Parts: sequence; structure tokens; C-alpha cells
Amino acid sequence: MALADRMVRGFLFTELVRGFSLTFKYMFKPKVTLNYPFEKGPISPRFRGEHALRRYPNGEERCIACKLCEAICPALAITIEAEPRDDGSRRTTRYDIDMIKCIYCGLCQEACPVDAIVEGPNFEYATETREELYYNKEKLLENGDIWEAQIARNLEADAPYR
Ligand code: SF4
Ligand code: SF4
Repeated sequence: MALADRMVRGFLFTELVRGFSLTFKYMFKPKVTLNYPFEKGPISPRFRGEHALRRYPNGEERCIACKLCEAICPALAITIEAEPRDDGSRRTTRYDIDMIKCIYCGLCQEACPVDAIVEGPNFEYATETREELYYNKEKLLENGDIWEAQIARNLEADAPYR
């Protein structure tokens, strides 16, 4: 019976017909795939991507070198050195993040009292060498300058839930 059944199905190409009907069924449905990198899907305001150090609108660095982010980082990825400026304010002289060690937990952002260190929306920062993933203060501030508008919008959108 099983053999006869297989022979009839093979003769009538029923499996082929079923396969094609499935193809035609999905051919006219909305596409669920994206043509990345030309098309990108939406990401949450809470997305934890590449780190950035932010500035105030007047250009001053937000970071006050309290080192809370360095203390809370479970991966020991952050290294900070600081000293007072001539005006008495305290600022970092060194702010490094080893992005290879980082586990993207977001605790540095949560600990920061002035929203200086953040994990921004950028996820496209693949590199060819490890050295390129040792971020220094200049790189982090540059990231902040590039992504500030989006970061500010994300923080504002997430504020009611904090
Ligand atoms: S996201 Fe987590 S692991 Fe990465 S630097 Fe911040 S605290 Fe450290
Ligand atoms: S980034 Fe924030 S938490 Fe880290 S040292 Fe600066 S002010 Fe303190």
C-alpha cells in the first residue's frame, strides 16, 4: 500500500505541486527580509550599542570623573585617570574602554550621574584589528558628537520608564 501510494504520488508530481504552491503563496505576501545594509530595521531606544561620551550643548564634557562607571563595570573594561583643572573642576585625563572586554551590560550608563557615558544606537563598528577596539577618550567624545541627536532622543523616550 505504501509502495503504491509512493508510486502514485511520484507519477502525479504531488510533492512538486505542493512545493510550488507554497512558493506562489508567499510570492505575493509582504517581504519579511531587509536588504541590509541599504535597509535597516527599527531599534529600541534602549539598544545598547557602541559607547559614546556626551557633551553639554556648550561643548563642555559632561563627565565629572567620578569613576562610578569604572567601579561598576563587571568586565573591568573601563580605565579612568583624572585631575583637577585650573578652575577647580574635575575632569578625566584618560578615559579608555576596552571594547573587547565589554559585555554590553549597560551598567556604566546606569551608574553615571550626569548621563555622560552612554551606549548609543550604533552597531556597525566592526574592525579588522583588536587595536581598533581599544577606545580612548577622543574616540568616545567623537562618537558622542556624531550620535548626540539620536542619543538625546533615545534618553528622552526612555526617561518615563526609569
Ligand atoms: S557596558 Fe558593562 S561591561 Fe561594557 S563598559 Fe559598560 S559596564 Fe563595562
Ligand atoms: S562617565 Fe559618568 S560615571 Fe563615569 S566617571 Fe564620568 S561622570 Fe562618572
